Amino acid sequence: MRERENLIKADLHVHTRFDLEQKLDNLVLERTNRGNLILTAKNILVRSGRNGVTIVGLVGHGHAQHWEEALNAQEEYQPNSELKPFFLLGVEFPTRRKKVDWKSRFTGPHLLGYFPYPNEVDLKILPKHLSPEETIHYIHENKGVAVLPHLITDLKPQLGQLFSAFTLKEAEALALLIDGVEKNCSPAANQLLDDLVLKINQERQERRLRPIFSVISTDSHGLATVGEKGILVSGEIKSPPALVEYLLDPEAVIEFYENPRISNQKPKYTSVIDFFRSGFARR
Ligand SMILES: [Zn+2]
Ligand SMILES: [Zn+2]
Repeated sequence: MRERENLIKADLHVHTRFDLEQKLDNLVLERTNRGNLILTAKNILVRSGRNGVTIVGLVGHGHAQHWEEALNAQEEYQPNSELKPFFLLGVEFPTRRKKVDWKSRFTGPHLLGYFPYPNEVDLKILPKHLSPEETIHYIHENKGVAVLPHLITDLKPQLGQLFSAFTLKEAEALALLIDGVEKNCSPAANQLLDDLVLKINQERQERRLRPIFSVISTDSHGLATVGEKGILVSGEIKSPPALVEYLLDPEAVIEFYENPRISNQKPKYTSVIDFFRSGFARR
C-alpha cells in the first residue's frame, strides 16, 4: 500500500474577492453582508493552511485580476508556513455557442483554464464569450489545461452544465478537446460522471488521445468552504508546472478527499415533521 502521508491536498476551484465585487448572485452578496471574511488571496491561503490544503486553484469569472494579488500573497505567506502552499492560477471562462433557433441558449458552458506559466499568458487577448472550442484553443496556446467544471451540480440539478449549457452530444464533442472534468456533486451524480468519463476515455483511446482526468473541487465563493474537498496528489509536487504535468500523466493516481465535517454532515431535519416539531419546541 502506498504511504498516504506522502499525498497532499489540492482544491482547484476557488474564487476571490474580485468575483464578489462583480455581484454575481444574491447568495454572494448575502454572505459578504453578513460580515464574513473577504476572499483575499491571503485569507484563502490561511484558510487552506488550516485545512491542510497545499495547492489552491484560484480562478476568476472571465478575468485574471486576482493573479497579481495571489502571487504577492504566496510570496509573503509561503516562507512562514509548514505546508509551503502555492496557487495554480486560472480563469473560469464564460463561453458562447451558436444560436441554432430562437429557443436554444446562447450561453455556452463555463471552462476552467489553469496556467502553470502565468507570466507567459497573453492576457491582452483573454477570450470572452468565444466558442468553447476557441477558448480551449487559447488555453492550450498558453500552455494551460482545460477543465470542464460542474457538469452536474448537487442541489440544483438544473444548474448543472449537462442539463443546461449544452446537450450530451455537445459535451461529447468537447470531450475530445478538454483535458479534464470536475466533479463537485453527490455520490450518485458523481457516479454518472464517472460513467461518462469512462465512455469519453474509451473514445479517446480509439483516437489515440490522452485520457482525461477527473478532479473534485469546491467552487468556493466564500471562505467557509475553501479546501473542504478536493484531490490528493503526490507530495513531490512543489510547483504549478509539476502539478499540471502530474494531472496530464495517464499513470498518475488522483484520489479524492472530503473534510469529515462534510461527509459526516447530516441534514439538520430528517423530515418536514421533525422541522415542525423543533419549531414548536422552541416556543
Ligand atoms: Zn462556473
Ligand atoms: Zn466557479
